[in-house]
Amino acid sequence: MAEVHRIVTPPIQGNSYLILDEKNAVIDVGGNPAFLISKIGKYIEKDELDIILLTHGHFDHSGAAGELAKITGAEVYFHRNELELINNPLTNGARLFGMKFTPVNPSKLLDGGEILDLGDVSLEVIHPPGHSPGSICLYEREKKWLFSGDTVFPFGNIGRTDLPGGNPELLVESIKKLVELDVEIMYPGHDSVTSDNVREQILQSLKFAEIFQ
Ligand SMILES: [Zn+2]
Repeated sequence: MAEVHRIVTPPIQGNSYLILDEKNAVIDVGGNPAFLISKIGKYIEKDELDIILLTHGHFDHSGAAGELAKITGAEVYFHRNELELINNPLTNGARLFGMKFTPVNPSKLLDGGEILDLGDVSLEVIHPPGHSPGSICLYEREKKWLFSGDTVFPFGNIGRTDLPGGNPELLVESIKKLVELDVEIMYPGHDSVTSDNVREQILQSLKFAEIFQ
């Protein structure tokens, strides 16, 4: 059985999720590689991390990825439309936080629709733009898990659309697609993991997003 461990990361409490399976993967990494390595080290050796998945290119989710990939040898996957934003300190937010980072090179660029098979866990790549052009969610269809990145959060919250590449109309269309999914557990990019009537929470997010459309 796979295990999912939530790791809350600096600089602004982004959630990183370590999935221990036949292949070990981490979804988002925060901005501090040393911090994440020390947390992951409780479960696996550095060279046992196989895949780094980034829900999007904002620094609080992806800033540590370049360094982490060097240290662990893990492959890095993110969406093709995030390529411009992710290594630019003006658009990824690094300048805003006054942080330095190692640029990240993707091992594979995602388009959406891929299935990433980790063993017990199978992650379907969904591409809901709006918070950023190449934001992705990862959906485990059988287990009904949704790793929602910064697209939707618990309690009907939504990702901001006022950062470079953000688009409130696209966010509404994207959340409409998420409403269609059968989700029992939401693993958001910030805030707590929730299993409390998740569909209703995503419907609330849709209503909230429509206000800003
Ligand atoms: Zn973000």
